[in-house]
Amino acid sequence: MHEFALADAVVKAAVRAAREAGIDRVEAVVVRVGELQQIATDLFEFSLTQVLPPSDPLLEGARFVVEREAVVFRCRVCGREFGTGDLGEAPGADEAEAVHFIPELAHAFVRCPGCGSPDFDILAGRGVTLERIEGRGGDLPGSP
Ligand SMILES: [Zn+2]
Repeated sequence: MHEFALADAVVKAAVRAAREAGIDRVEAVVVRVGELQQIATDLFEFSLTQVLPPSDPLLEGARFVVEREAVVFRCRVCGREFGTGDLGEAPGADEAEAVHFIPELAHAFVRCPGCGSPDFDILAGRGVTLERIEGRGGDLPGSP
């Protein structure tokens, strides 16, 4: 279960980050998931609540918020930046959809909408990031 393994890693990172920030009680953990990341958001959110250490008061009652990060491609030929929403015409909707599930296919299907080049960088939309932790007792902005 890919989502459970990721959730476990995220929770461990959140605990570490909260301790480093001096947070006594975490209220929310915001996780950003790239559009190209092969993750079922619902399952991932569920997994996050399942891997919580039950006896750790630090994370008791914490909410997990999963945000999706849109993918951004940048053409290496003409410099144009585009996302999956710009791919409507070119490779076909089914293939653009497949890119969501199999990021390795991006270079096979995606073409720059400006010049048609298949040579591009992926600037955003990959990976899983611990975006921020909200809580009490730390030095974070807004804490008492
Ligand atoms: Zn281009």
